[in-house]
Amino acid sequence: MASFRSSGQELLNWRRKLLGEGGRAVDLDWLLDLQGGLSWSSMQKLYFDPYRSCELQESLDQLAIIWRIHLKDQIPLQYLIGRCPWRDFELEVSPGVLIPRQETELLVDFALERFKHINFGCWADLGTGSGALAVALARSLPKWEGHAVDLSKKALSLAERNLVRLAPKVEVELHLGNWWEPLKPWWGNLSLVLANPPYIPNACINELEPVVRDHEPHLALDGGPDGLFAVREIVSGALGSLSSGGWLMLEHQHDQSDEVIDLMNNAGLENVYFGNDLQGIKRFAMGQHPIVRASN
Ligand code: GLN
Repeated sequence: MASFRSSGQELLNWRRKLLGEGGRAVDLDWLLDLQGGLSWSSMQKLYFDPYRSCELQESLDQLAIIWRIHLKDQIPLQYLIGRCPWRDFELEVSPGVLIPRQETELLVDFALERFKHINFGCWADLGTGSGALAVALARSLPKWEGHAVDLSKKALSLAERNLVRLAPKVEVELHLGNWWEPLKPWWGNLSLVLANPPYIPNACINELEPVVRDHEPHLALDGGPDGLFAVREIVSGALGSLSSGGWLMLEHQHDQSDEVIDLMNNAGLENVYFGNDLQGIKRFAMGQHPIVRASN
């Protein structure tokens, strides 16, 4: 790997200059870490001792080029470097696929709380995008059978590359199609279904930051007039698709909790509850298929 040496002083001056051109310090530090190989803690050390020198994996000139494209065209840094760290792995990402968000990591925790000690089962990730949820499930439940569904061919081939690289030995099938539709052969056999569907109401899409609005796929963001178009479709398939005692777990927008909980209850799911994000906002909804007791 290429190595570029810089003095602390030079690096700090470079950082100040680029931030003077615009953008957020957290994003520039993210770029320095991910593409430059300079961790946040190494950066802190330079503040205390600017006479130290540091090694970078990329030249400051090259990093400046990426930063300026990001500022000028508002392209997300993750697309520019083609990578995004998420949970304990690093996903490949590209335009046409939603950049996985940090809060979505929690959906996996809700699932693993219930399922990490269960050795066999069948999970599905509806609207897999980059494959973030699918990769996390495949790595944590390696003996399970997995299904990742997406309507976008581009997303599905990216999810496949991520799965092959990050969970190579796990059995995960990829399906091109709309929500439940490709999963009909597994109807009634799914123990766990996760989804981070598009849930932003139409009218709010224009108000998103340009970095999201102008570059991330609206297919993965736009939830129709009230934001619940996809959620409704997913919840309506839960009773048929889940196995006895199986769980549906969804991410939704900050103000949709009551409605999503109602939708789950009205669809016949049981033990419905919400989950908070790291700021304590209700962003997840979980519901269980009634347990069917064998009659004798
Ligand atoms: N959380 C994403 C955002 O704020 C939206 C993702 C989604 O609609 N599923 O941009």
